[in-house]
Amino acid sequence: MELDRLDHIYRDVILDHARSPRHQEEVPDPDIQGDAINPFCGDEIHLRIKLGPHGRALRIGLQSSGCAICQASGSMLTEAIEGKSPGEMESLAARFRALMAGQPLSDGDLDSLGPLRSLAGVREYPIRIKCALLAWTALERGLEAYQRQGAPRP
Ligand code: ZN
Repeated sequence: MELDRLDHIYRDVILDHARSPRHQEEVPDPDIQGDAINPFCGDEIHLRIKLGPHGRALRIGLQSSGCAICQASGSMLTEAIEGKSPGEMESLAARFRALMAGQPLSDGDLDSLGPLRSLAGVREYPIRIKCALLAWTALERGLEAYQRQGAPRP
């Protein structure tokens, strides 16, 4: 499969996350919840986030199934959003989308992506880009719904 042709370092990070996805827990009464499905390879992401008293991600729960790229990206997402506010999650998602679209990013922006940078190798397999973005689509949907209900207009 395509993973075999990815750079070794990238592949190791991705496989580690794909084999043992982080934050696979139930999060009762979440503040943010988003779901996304990619029927092409049976990818499914169900993301639940409970915010703490300071409005930052306190508990994160991920239920995922599907291909290795989808699961790895979802797992990395859960680690990347630990302790972040909804606004910070949103800008992280935008930076990750820019990375996957091959748009230029400043060194600071690249640094802020941490291990997520390993997924840039997936760009060479356009059909897999959707897999890498699926968890982020779920996050963005969750944030959108949260902002709609969380910040009612006067
Ligand atoms: Zn996939």
